[in-house]
Amino acid sequence: MEPISQFLVKKYVIKGENKTILRWIVVGTEGDYLVSENYCSCYSFIQKHLRIGDECKHIQLLTAAQKCNEYDEFTISFEEYEILRREWLF
Ligand SMILES: [Zn+2]
Repeated sequence: MEPISQFLVKKYVIKGENKTILRWIVVGTEGDYLVSENYCSCYSFIQKHLRIGDECKHIQLLTAAQKCNEYDEFTISFEEYEILRREWLF
């Protein structure tokens, strides 16, 4: 597992009029991945997701970053989220 410093974890707080949602992004060497405790949008996760208990390095990094509060937090609107979402999901 690579050290956290090689990656960046970003917490996005997306605020709308009636709801607020959270998204976690891990900036890796090959791109930005949308990550949660049990999901990652990276290729290796999607390839292996049927194997129970498998975690990719991004999920491990997210868990580590949440534990030590080592992440950047951003508050954005739903309009900004729609634009960013296209870069996160592929
Ligand atoms: Zn991943």
